[in-house]
Amino acid sequence: MSILESFTTPISEQCDVLVCGGGVAGISAALAAARAGKRVILLEKQFMLGGLATAGLITIYLPLCDGYGRQVSFGIAEELLRLSVSMGAEDKYPANWLDADSTPAQRTVDDPRFEVQFNPQLFAILAEQELLKAGAEILYGTYAVAVSTKKDRIESVIVENKSGRQAICAGAVVDATGDCDIAAFAQAPTENFRQGNVLAAWYYGVDDRGYNLNMLGFCDIPESEKKNRNGPPLLANKRFSGLDGKELSQMVQSAHASTLQDIIKKRQKHPTLMPTTIATIPQIRMTRRIVGEYTMCTGDDHKYIADSVGMVSDWRKRGPVYEVPFTSLYSAQVKNLICAGRCTAATEDMWDLMRVIPCCAVTGQAAGTAAALGTDFTKTDILQLQKVLQKNGVVLHEKDLPVQL
Ligand SMILES: Cc1cc2nc3c(=O)[nH]c(=O)nc-3n(C[C@H](O)[C@H](O)[C@H](O)COP(=O)(O)OP(=O)(O)OC[C@H]3O[C@@H](n4cnc5c(N)ncnc54)[C@H](O)[C@@H]3O)c2cc1C
Repeated sequence: MSILESFTTPISEQCDVLVCGGGVAGISAALAAARAGKRVILLEKQFMLGGLATAGLITIYLPLCDGYGRQVSFGIAEELLRLSVSMGAEDKYPANWLDADSTPAQRTVDDPRFEVQFNPQLFAILAEQELLKAGAEILYGTYAVAVSTKKDRIESVIVENKSGRQAICAGAVVDATGDCDIAAFAQAPTENFRQGNVLAAWYYGVDDRGYNLNMLGFCDIPESEKKNRNGPPLLANKRFSGLDGKELSQMVQSAHASTLQDIIKKRQKHPTLMPTTIATIPQIRMTRRIVGEYTMCTGDDHKYIADSVGMVSDWRKRGPVYEVPFTSLYSAQVKNLICAGRCTAATEDMWDLMRVIPCCAVTGQAAGTAAALGTDFTKTDILQLQKVLQKNGVVLHEKDLPVQL
């Protein structure tokens, strides 16, 4: 059964770069494009920036370093980490990286990695301030629901907000929705996460021990690694795709029920426990990603990548370093669309690595910088893109790291 709707949609805005989704990837992309002097609109369906990192209460900014004392992710990834704790860290604060008098000698395999735990509300507000300073326009409460296309390009993204249904025309579009929504609307090739997501219910509470992040549903083990190690116990036996409206609602209800059970249990020892914040978006790790011109895999560890747009490490273990290929951010089938964050092209086990906050910032900066340079990503001048990224602090190749092993 279906209803045939027919309507004319007014064009409400025009911009050079339209960034869809205001998570860490979208913030990074919009900052990079706006600082390059482009007219940037960042649309976000929530009424705060940060996505999973803030509204989702995932407040651990995983490492920028390889675990052997070498920083590998720079540029906006480092800027946002520092910004997130600029008014105080909630927990992890690696003095060996952040203190003014710290030295490289304190950054060895035995010392803390370059990661922090931040306050979500402060990070969201500080990121908003940075974007406004850079001249980006933020449209909150705005849901991208469709695209209009012409040949192999997106002409406009159709959005809905309190003003109704409108079209925003853009030269280049960054898909930072986390779920690759824009690519799917534009019928670019995408792939869904096969393993499915475990239930998570991270929440903040306060009791006699102080104010704490309770991490229920800690992490999952990629299918390929299950023969080698066991994961932590799961909150529920069900797995979630994250791409079905009804299923997502049920998942959030299960997360709420788990939170309640946890509070009741913890009150036996800490009777004053009160929840202070619960997530306002579903805590879902991986859903859908672009099928890019290149798909990153764990075998790319320590490999020289000629079109690298930055580097990332492995949050799960010390050692691996990956150069991120520009070609893992887009499909040639939709020329003016580029992806950033947890929907870039990676195999399932590599995806578990590329989805985390520092990697989302690295791909976000690369996507926003490329979008400021042109509107056909198959024709991007890679050397020029790399030059701009380097000028803005990004180190592209492992061989160029200031500290060598
Ligand atoms: C339980 C859990 C634990 C995790 N633990 C860690 C950790 O400890 N450390 C770490 O670094 N990472 C962790 N991660 C991963 C990390 O938090 C996220 O993958 C990362 O923050 C994703 O950033 P993003 O910008 O790509 O996407 P998101 O944060 O998902 O941002 C996407 C944004 O787009 C908006 N949006 C989506 N669709 C639309 C649309 N159609 N129109 C308009 N707006 C839209 C959303 O509201 C959201 O704000 C964890 C994730 C989960 C779920």
